[in-house]
Amino acid sequence: MSRTRTSSPRRPVSPTAAVVTALLLLAAVAVAAGCLGAAIAQSALSAVAAPPASASDQTSGVSVVEPGGALGAPGRTESQPVGQASRLGLADGLLPGGVTVFDSGYPAVANLDPDLLQTLQAAVTTGGLDLYVTSGWRSEAYQKQLLADAIDTYGSEAEAARWVAPADKSLHVAGQAVDLTGDGALEWLAEHGSAFGLCQIYDNEPWHYELRLNAPAEGCPSRYPDASWDPRLR
Ligand SMILES: [Zn+2]
Repeated sequence: MSRTRTSSPRRPVSPTAAVVTALLLLAAVAVAAGCLGAAIAQSALSAVAAPPASASDQTSGVSVVEPGGALGAPGRTESQPVGQASRLGLADGLLPGGVTVFDSGYPAVANLDPDLLQTLQAAVTTGGLDLYVTSGWRSEAYQKQLLADAIDTYGSEAEAARWVAPADKSLHVAGQAVDLTGDGALEWLAEHGSAFGLCQIYDNEPWHYELRLNAPAEGCPSRYPDASWDPRLR
């Protein structure tokens, strides 16, 4: 009696438990496989398209662009670059994270003005800098996309002009400007860059540097509050 009482309620339980366990295992395997597949698909994608999460030291986003998000300013969403930006790639000057001024395999670096690039390399070597390029040379298509994104983000062409130049005027498109990041590197450049001819141009973009050949002798020129004040961009 006591045997049937104890065993009979349990007997149906353990097969059920076994089935449940088996199902859970199957589900776990399926989930793991799904994640792996997604991860593979994603890495394949990022290898082809542009790696976005790079310039995330300030905001991330279409890191593709300026450090501080593509636009170097807060308030940027990541929803924009679905259409045209998704067709942009390394050949347009997009960059993954961790690219240095010595990584000339990237068009964004290779297409920089040679004097600017060599000066940057000299500064990095001299200062022992942990310096990375978040954006250098850009194609016109890339610059146009950035401007369109900025207008979307800021709601007006006037506000966007404080952060992004038109493609036909951009110093990035001309290969004469570079956006940089790195632990302590920007602070070092702010202090010593002018001795090399490397100058910050805009107050609101501490990462944007250009070459000023007179700077070693005369110091860097006074900065514009932002790009909209720059007569070269009009
Ligand atoms: Zn810039």
